[in-house]
Amino acid sequence: MPTIEPLPQGSTIGVLGGGQLGRMLALAAARLGMKTHIFCPDPESPAFDVTPRKTVAAYSDEAALEAFAAAVDVVTYEFENVPAATAAFLAARKPLFPDARALAISQNRLEEKGFISGLGIPVAAYRPVDSVAALETAIADLGLPAVLKTTRLGYDGKGQRTLHAAGEAADAFAALAPKPLVLEAFVPFDREISVVTARGRDGSVRAFEPAENVHRDHILYTSTVPAAIRPALAEAAVAAANAIAEALGYVGVLGVEFFVAGETLLVNEIAPRVHNSGHWTEAVCVTDQFEQHIRAICGWPLGDPTRLAPVVMENLIGDEIPTIPARLASGDRPQLYGKREARPGRKMGHLNHVGRHDPAA
Ligand code: AMP
Repeated sequence: MPTIEPLPQGSTIGVLGGGQLGRMLALAAARLGMKTHIFCPDPESPAFDVTPRKTVAAYSDEAALEAFAAAVDVVTYEFENVPAATAAFLAARKPLFPDARALAISQNRLEEKGFISGLGIPVAAYRPVDSVAALETAIADLGLPAVLKTTRLGYDGKGQRTLHAAGEAADAFAALAPKPLVLEAFVPFDREISVVTARGRDGSVRAFEPAENVHRDHILYTSTVPAAIRPALAEAAVAAANAIAEALGYVGVLGVEFFVAGETLLVNEIAPRVHNSGHWTEAVCVTDQFEQHIRAICGWPLGDPTRLAPVVMENLIGDEIPTIPARLASGDRPQLYGKREARPGRKMGHLNHVGRHDPAA
């Protein structure tokens, strides 16, 4: 393994994006004696409350990016839709982790599926769709129901439609943007799981255990660990996530989402960043995903991902925050993001119920 000089305490980590993930990265960085410099166009960014340095500017503002690059030692990001030109501009000036290739692959569902299936890791059957005629052919190939998705810029169920009848094709094609689209066979899954793994600058890889994820209205609601799956399936999921990290020559934390159908594991998507389904790690693991990411990009040795207790992570969505002080049970670890405005569907915080096994408890 190559020898990497770890970044010393007091180094500055540039983070693109000022949401809750950037906020939790800044908190973890501070614990390691690092400074963060958060770059985000939104002056109300939750991460700004906890970072010593910030830039409020558009991601296309080259003067601001130039000054940001000059002020930091390493650059990372908290969302996968960083414009490719922004990533290239910064990567030419400072180390960017995860690199531009990992970003490009995860920004495009077609490239992502091609890359993952090229590694011999199964994904749902899919077809590229760039016209209504192509969609009709894809429906004939894959059958119904099927899920039509944008290849770019989808999140939390935005940018997708489930098709139940061929007659819905033209409307669904017209409704989704940007084009092109991708049609996926509907996976009659028993459960959804995810693996958050990390690869260091020295090439070492350490994965957290799989979490079992339940969505409500397309938004992650709970992550429960341990997941109710056989050990062999958990090992296979971890092996697949690690193989993806290795194949990308990845540095940082990587989230990999899977469908579990019987004993079959299919990758749904990957995220080149700390992941909502890894928030449980902050309450019950020796090293959590945020510290792990900071360690990885700073060239520090990766920490121990061992889990010390069962846990259910519950996302707090919309207007739940005022009820939290009264709701807290012994063993609950709250993390509130400090967002000023609660909107329906907006992620406002999460609760880790330490010691709990059952998401419905
Ligand atoms: P995605 O944006 O791809 O993560 O999809 C959001 C959610 O929609 C997933 O977590 C699943 O619950 C559901 N979903 C997406 N694709 C499929 C599929 N091909 N088959 C069944 N459910 C799906």
